[in-house]
Amino acid sequence: MNSYHYSERPIGIYVHIPFCYSKCGYCDFYSLTDLSQKKLVEYIDSLEAEIDLIAETYGSLEVQSIYLGGGTPSILNLECIENIWESLNTKYRINEDAEITMEANPDSIDLKYLREIRKIGINRLSIGVQSLIDEELKLLDRRHDSTQAIKAVREAREAGFGNLSIDVMFGLPSQEIETAVSNVIEAEALGVDHLSLYGLIPEPGTPMREQFERGELPFPSGGDYAEMYLQSSAFLTGKGFRRYEISNFARKGFECRHNLNYWNYGSYLGFGPSAHSALISCEKGEYRVKRFWNYKDLDRYVRRMKKNTTAVEDTEELDSDKIALERLLLRLRMEEGYRFASDDEYYRFMSFDDMKSRIDNLCDKRMLVLEPGKAIRCTDVGFVYADEIIAGISSSLNT
Ligand code: SF4
Repeated sequence: MNSYHYSERPIGIYVHIPFCYSKCGYCDFYSLTDLSQKKLVEYIDSLEAEIDLIAETYGSLEVQSIYLGGGTPSILNLECIENIWESLNTKYRINEDAEITMEANPDSIDLKYLREIRKIGINRLSIGVQSLIDEELKLLDRRHDSTQAIKAVREAREAGFGNLSIDVMFGLPSQEIETAVSNVIEAEALGVDHLSLYGLIPEPGTPMREQFERGELPFPSGGDYAEMYLQSSAFLTGKGFRRYEISNFARKGFECRHNLNYWNYGSYLGFGPSAHSALISCEKGEYRVKRFWNYKDLDRYVRRMKKNTTAVEDTEELDSDKIALERLLLRLRMEEGYRFASDDEYYRFMSFDDMKSRIDNLCDKRMLVLEPGKAIRCTDVGFVYADEIIAGISSSLNT
């Protein structure tokens, strides 16, 4: 049983569904396109085994959110979803008002399917719209077109999804600022309550990156990329959305609780190949973190589950400096930034190698705002470069 006391706050659960009908050229998520029925059934059996195994180790933790992500979770038939739900429900204490999200692609859902998953208990849907321009969807290798995307959103509402999110991308090759912003304007007009706005990055190891390196894809300049983000953000906030995190905009009360738990340094369990878990406790302000992650290999994962052993590739426990820095960096992703608990905590941060000069430098460039002893947060422009800012500050522990 659980030798750690990691369960004082309800946790989030992530379930990875590593299958897609085909691979999008820009995607570096772990997902496979080998979709035999046998493989799917074997996978769901393995997930159930892992859910049991982890519950035996850490106990029946209280759960505030579940997120079925991928991959393409909407590839699963209703029986598979029911089995996962049943397994989680048996082994964990799922709060009555828990947020249960499922990611879905417009080409793999219809009204009947949506009504059924709603009945099973999914109460939040995140639809991978990405763009409402057909040429852009083709460029991204998406399997749907804009008509299917619009239909998917309409049918999700009809099926009773009161909590609905869509993903929209910007910064696509050859995209103009006006096109990127008009895409967001059209997406908002679909009437959703949550919108995730992601800049396209040609990640290493993807076909899109190879094309980019061969000079075949003219990505927007840094200045245009920044304008796309800033103008889209301004439009959404003008429409009553709050940018509660760099890429996430929500109407009041529709913030994604599952993701808030990550950024607020809450505990989570991840099931499936490549899934990460973190069990976190806090006593009198002192945090303890145990983190572990699974092999990024479906066959290996299934073999391990058949033997009733975990698929954990590695585990780490963080020292207190690393924990302190991680908490600060996670909160820098959020609009409110990080509030220092006390003067002592503030001075502790500033004592990290070079921290003060890095932060002063970023404040001079108007990317960060620091209220000494009180809080630190990104500015509007800082959000555009948040990844670089976070990497820069985090190297304070590595120098
Ligand atoms: S559907 Fe999503 S997870 Fe699957 S390949 Fe495309 S971007 Fe990746």
